[in-house]
Amino acid sequence: MTKVSMDDIVSLCKRRGFIFQSSEIYGGINGFWDFGPMGVALKNNIKKFWWQSMVQFRDDVAGVDTSIIAHPTTWQASGHIDCFSDPMIDCKTCKGRFRADHLETSTCLNKPSQSPKTCGGELTEARAFNLMFKTFVGANQDSSSEAYLRPETCQSIFTQFKNVVTTSRHKVPFGIAQIGKSFRNEITPRNFIFRSREFEQMEMEFFVKPDPAIQEEWYQYWCQTRYQWYSALGIRADHLHKREHAKDELAHYAKGCTDVEYDFPFGCSELEGIANRGNYDLTQHMTFSKKDMNYFLQETGEKFVPAVIETSAGCDRTLLTVLCDAYHVDEVEGESRVVMRFAPHIAPISVAILPLSKKLAEPAQKLEKSLRTKFATDYDDSGSIGKRYRRQDEVGTPFCITYDFDSETDGHVTVRHRDTTQQERVSLDNIKSYLEERIEYKAI
Ligand code: ATP
Repeated sequence: MTKVSMDDIVSLCKRRGFIFQSSEIYGGINGFWDFGPMGVALKNNIKKFWWQSMVQFRDDVAGVDTSIIAHPTTWQASGHIDCFSDPMIDCKTCKGRFRADHLETSTCLNKPSQSPKTCGGELTEARAFNLMFKTFVGANQDSSSEAYLRPETCQSIFTQFKNVVTTSRHKVPFGIAQIGKSFRNEITPRNFIFRSREFEQMEMEFFVKPDPAIQEEWYQYWCQTRYQWYSALGIRADHLHKREHAKDELAHYAKGCTDVEYDFPFGCSELEGIANRGNYDLTQHMTFSKKDMNYFLQETGEKFVPAVIETSAGCDRTLLTVLCDAYHVDEVEGESRVVMRFAPHIAPISVAILPLSKKLAEPAQKLEKSLRTKFATDYDDSGSIGKRYRRQDEVGTPFCITYDFDSETDGHVTVRHRDTTQQERVSLDNIKSYLEERIEYKAI
């Protein structure tokens, strides 16, 4: 089994165009990342798969796409203005700034082999640091125009709850889902894209009748469903864990919370949180907005503020998980190769067309064009066929098609499988359905 390090991942991401440091030519900006051609394709496939699983393939979840900047009262009602902070400590000696609860795993700026806890530097007391990015809306820059970049995508799902209820035919129990950017001014962004200051979330709020038994039933359902989703994404089960929060870790209004965690090279860490949040959020927005958030259940005539089960996943963390999990080094014909074993339905390139000779460019390009409307394709005619295979292995292309001189007469091409490197001849007449069967995800 390949043991992967973060250096391996960061270097592959740079080498193969998955992820670059943001503003690299200016020295970079800490906590921000840019996705290159392979990275954006992989990320889009992950988001598409989440959307299909959570919205498209279900009858009981509706999607929204809300603005990044919301009315500032949103964040008063949600508690973010008062409470969304991390404890921060300054070191007067090295001038570093650290999260008090991450001191042991942080690095002293003067003595990089030591942590701020052991380096002997003079530390301040911990103080609360609010993680929300502040900005101004409009031409005036005073307190009346202050606004925030959202630190999570779910609050506007709550504030739009009534609009979705009245404009869709969904009835409780049902969910509202959204994918979008969130921003947190993390004190110490680190571990590549695991903790950054700008990231994407994939969140869903599932509204149910506020009854402890019903809430518990849906909470268990979503814990199970979300855990299974990562397996369907191709993540190895022995690297995935579910961790139920202890009572003293829960927010005062929450009845339960479970994290899905993954064994990253830097340790086991959170990928997603599933929470049984009660009806705290809708009640808060009802109080602050003075708008009725009650739901009327026609069948029974009951009126209530629904309780919520939240599933909150990070797209960038999922992408990092996919990268770490797919990274393998093995040996092919006596040579070592790096191969990214992405599940075929999320690989950035599904199929690469490689003509054996440049003389075959015309029919090979024709084949590539006939496949590109259905699959993410690549066409590569530079270098030896072995080198081209290695390039495709490193970006995780599950199938390479070699068009050779025999293809002209027998109407067959060679399909090479990424993981086994085995090859087989497939008729050009069947190639689309052959690929479809092996690439497309079969709905759960
Ligand atoms: P952590 O304890 O790691 O800071 P959290 O418990 O604050 O995370 P939530 O507020 O529950 O995280 O956010 C839901 C999900 O959003 C997380 O599970 C994670 O996948 C993602 N996420 C949160 N903060 C970041 C970040 N700074 N960078 C990348 N992804 C993040």
